[in-house]
Amino acid sequence: MLELMDSIRFKKKIITARIRNPLQNFTETIEQIEIRVDPLLGYSSRISKSKGLDKIPGGESLNDFVTQSKSCFFCKGRVEEQTPKLPEDIYPEGRITVGEAFLFPNLSGFGTFSAVCIFSKEHFIALDQFTSIQIFNALKACQIYFQKCSLSYGSRLFPSINGNYLLPAGSSILHPHLQPFLDPYPTNLQKQLWRASKKYYQKNGKSFWTELKKAERNSDRFLFETPFGFAYTPFAPLGFYEVNAVLGNGENILDLTNEMIQDLSGIIHRILQFYHSRQHNSFNLVLFSPPVPNGIKEELPCILKICSRPVFTPLYRNDVTFFEKFHQENMIDKTPEEVAAEYRATIK
Ligand SMILES: [Zn+2]
Repeated sequence: MLELMDSIRFKKKIITARIRNPLQNFTETIEQIEIRVDPLLGYSSRISKSKGLDKIPGGESLNDFVTQSKSCFFCKGRVEEQTPKLPEDIYPEGRITVGEAFLFPNLSGFGTFSAVCIFSKEHFIALDQFTSIQIFNALKACQIYFQKCSLSYGSRLFPSINGNYLLPAGSSILHPHLQPFLDPYPTNLQKQLWRASKKYYQKNGKSFWTELKKAERNSDRFLFETPFGFAYTPFAPLGFYEVNAVLGNGENILDLTNEMIQDLSGIIHRILQFYHSRQHNSFNLVLFSPPVPNGIKEELPCILKICSRPVFTPLYRNDVTFFEKFHQENMIDKTPEEVAAEYRATIK
């Protein structure tokens, strides 16, 4: 029996909550909450009306902290002496250098291959001071790391490049860095993305991601396109101010050309400028890649996900609550369409 192609569906349910509202003389008011379903993976995210959860605290906390912390073992002069080296057979030089970027294995790793890549030996780079070249160099060093590890391991591995910027995003070290990670066992979301994308391709003979681009190109969530990239705010966000980008058509991270990595660096740079313009200074990012070393398939391309985290301040409100931690449900107070409108109004 011929099955019709799965069209991409942006499903949402609107539910309402009634209260007698003290702000309106205890008259009954109704609040709307959207439950949005991710069109590929089927998880749901809740969007309530704005509660000011992304309220920006004032003060000079970050500058004070930068001044106090001064240096660490990722800084020039110490990083060469105090960080681990890659095994001899993987990379005899021990560390991978591309421009200012410097990559070394993680002292307390979390998988078969996990490393740290500092953008520069300077202790701190403010969000608006990152250059596209610094981002390119760090991503390129991660790609070389993946190539060397993949060659040494010899069978399938799942790569991702990850980043926590500042303490509210989970980073224990101020010094800006990425964390490339390569393991035979994909993480939960990585596995779901890979499996669901494969399934969609096998069923429909087309990539979900190509279809998603078609659907999002004329939506209120579209941000911009570059020669290899497509940026948008996802229908069912996992984080505040979340932006996603699809890179290429199915190349894994080892297949990316320098032009594609430059393109990706430019995309990340624009999003960081956007966060800076909204006075956000902390973020998480991930670049998921299809498994390596399989050749080019159209099923799943490299996917960038980036979201803002609470602003660096002594008394910040954490944005991971019982919802995110134990219900695996994300609670957001701004729609992706509102975030996209803010982007378009800010970054030209
Ligand atoms: Zn440092």
